[in-house]
Amino acid sequence: MNVPQCPVRPGDACSLCVPGATGPQDCHLVAMVMSDPDLRARLAELRREWREGTAA
Ligand code: SF4
Repeated sequence: MNVPQCPVRPGDACSLCVPGATGPQDCHLVAMVMSDPDLRARLAELRREWREGTAA
């Protein structure tokens, strides 16, 4: 089974931690982060750091 990754927790699979979510596609937290330019920029930074950390 293909487990979707959580967009806001780099490296983690979606654990349905937000009540009502059935995956990243209808997760309110993901929608909130993506709709806020500052949070989105910070998330991009975290994802880059995570990528660099796992690539090292
Ligand atoms: S429910 Fe949302 S925040 Fe929680 S793991 Fe899934 S995508 Fe990430």
